[in-house]
Amino acid sequence: MKRNHFLDLNEALQNPGKQLDFTIHTSLSQEEDVDLVNPIEGELSAVSTGNILLLSGQFRTRCVVECARCNEPIEVDVEFEMDDEFTVEGVPSCYGSDGFAHIVPEEEPEKIFDKNSLIPDGYLRQGLILNLPVQPLCQFGWEGDCPNARATKKHFAPPTHPGLVHLAEIAGDPKATEEGAE
Ligand SMILES: [Zn+2]
Repeated sequence: MKRNHFLDLNEALQNPGKQLDFTIHTSLSQEEDVDLVNPIEGELSAVSTGNILLLSGQFRTRCVVECARCNEPIEVDVEFEMDDEFTVEGVPSCYGSDGFAHIVPEEEPEKIFDKNSLIPDGYLRQGLILNLPVQPLCQFGWEGDCPNARATKKHFAPPTHPGLVHLAEIAGDPKATEEGAE
């Protein structure tokens, strides 16, 4: 099912302190950069302080990533938490009959709100991408005699600093990944 359903948060926005809870189960629509094996599942709650909308939740899924050493696709289980704040403007309607609080739209690569509704696929995709393993490894790890790594001539020592990983790949120099190398 590829329905891009919305979660209506208006009740929370008009009633600060009132928490809304949602059960999440989505395979993500318009999927391009992440290959899910299992849908994202979890719990999401939303509560407004009046000025800030707080979203928090715990999610899990299983997806395909590339081995950092040999680029072979591997499946990994990913569990992640999200905790985000969004600015709210306007007077909640519970304080006055003519009031209406609304989420202030932010500059996002992908839209995650439509008026006072959350677009869960957009929100969860951001959370998932941020929480993908940085250096996933296939069954051969860094040290194993990986036939795939041999085929692609990529024999690196385990990089220790994230900033050096990229340099090492450009230079193709295993020494560049050693700690303290300058
Ligand atoms: Zn590998």
